[in-house]
Amino acid sequence: MRKKAACVMAAVLCVSLGFSGCGILPFEQDIPFLNSKAGSTETEKGTVQTDGSQDADTEQNTDTTENEQQGTSLNEGEQAETQESPLEQASLMATQYNYDGAIELLKSQPDYDSNTDMQNAVADYENTKATCTEYPLEQITHVFFHTLIKDTSKAFDGESDSDGYNQYMTTIDEFNKIIQNMYDKGYVMVSPHDMAVVNEDGTMSRGSIMLPPGKIPFVLSQDDVSYYHYMDGDGFASKLVVDSNGEVKNEYIEDDGSISTGDYDMVPLIDTFVKEHPDFSYHGRKGILAMTGYNGVLGYRTDIAYKTGKKLQDDQKKFLEENPDFDYKQEVKNAKKVAKAMKAEGWEFASHTWGHKDVGATSLDDLKRDDKKWQKYVAPILGKTDMIIFAFGADIGSWEGYSADNEKYEFYKSQGYRYFCNVDSSQYFVQITGDYFRQGRRNLDGYRMYYNPEMLSDLFDVSEVWDSSRPTPVPGM
Ligand SMILES: [Zn+2]
Repeated sequence: MRKKAACVMAAVLCVSLGFSGCGILPFEQDIPFLNSKAGSTETEKGTVQTDGSQDADTEQNTDTTENEQQGTSLNEGEQAETQESPLEQASLMATQYNYDGAIELLKSQPDYDSNTDMQNAVADYENTKATCTEYPLEQITHVFFHTLIKDTSKAFDGESDSDGYNQYMTTIDEFNKIIQNMYDKGYVMVSPHDMAVVNEDGTMSRGSIMLPPGKIPFVLSQDDVSYYHYMDGDGFASKLVVDSNGEVKNEYIEDDGSISTGDYDMVPLIDTFVKEHPDFSYHGRKGILAMTGYNGVLGYRTDIAYKTGKKLQDDQKKFLEENPDFDYKQEVKNAKKVAKAMKAEGWEFASHTWGHKDVGATSLDDLKRDDKKWQKYVAPILGKTDMIIFAFGADIGSWEGYSADNEKYEFYKSQGYRYFCNVDSSQYFVQITGDYFRQGRRNLDGYRMYYNPEMLSDLFDVSEVWDSSRPTPVPGM
């Protein structure tokens, strides 16, 4: 079951990327040992022809009606599904800083003029709203994680991929403490879609984030939430599911093969945290998941290769052999159900490229083929997205900005992408122009916590969150 991961990993990771936002070179923090397949150009041609036609054996994911564009405010739709009274709904909206929405909701009630509870609540919201100020968008930080480690004894078992997990992953115990620390400091999750908005003509405008004193907006994201085959048996959740209460949870495969369901990764952990602390979310926002497609999404084996059986990697073949009853259509359906439930809870999805591409080192033609696959096999499940979070912490341009003669930028723009994120260790890296939004992201993982704890002091105290089950020293780059 062991993979050849570690050597590949070491080789790739030692390359620091050319991007530098603030004079500090961001080391690649984005696990690269996940895709020998994705790196092969042979695979590129497997399912999508360069002229855009489909192979005879491919099948488009149908039923794309749920492809609604992301990025709209969430409170309305979310609230509509609940059975709560208008006062309760308004209270939650106001707790999540949506005072206008709360006030409008109450004032639109037929009995508002005679209901002093509602009138008092509105007066209360007006008062709190008056204390809010517009937060400087260029001072909004963005932090990201990879899949969280549930069982450290399995992840740090000394086998070949332990070093990578130690460098690039965060344990559930650490994550919970980080989030509690950040909440206690006043941090509130916002979306890049709050920071910049796309106008009807395709241009962009600055957004506006209004918060009471003491609150600090930040963006949260998680990369590679695919539960890749290579992680099997290493102490990670196996997939995301919708449980009998309609809540998004993880499945985890125990040693005896039985399946536990619970909060074993970022999505359900944050959902639970926000239930207990709704003011951690701005207008119902959660985080962004940066998604590839080559092993499927969210733990579902939805890539077309699992249907065609062509050009399979060894671990994909093994999966199909071990699951003779595998039903591709049902798999896609299940994945869609989870994605829909997540979006209703405030989560958003971004492309991480289909094949975990290093956009700096990959040719434009390869990137075109890659994005076509994302559009064809991932977007029908997760929905269309206008955001791309680059794999390997790479970027398609320098920190100075994307120019009109940047053909990779022009390509992604032509495909509807307006929000671009890389990896940058500086506290803030935000660019908002009339054409695009750009933000750097900080890795909160074993490497950063071990080597640069002082760089995280605005967020949390590493000595309070560090998981003592981590082997030390954490391998360097
Ligand atoms: Zn990645």
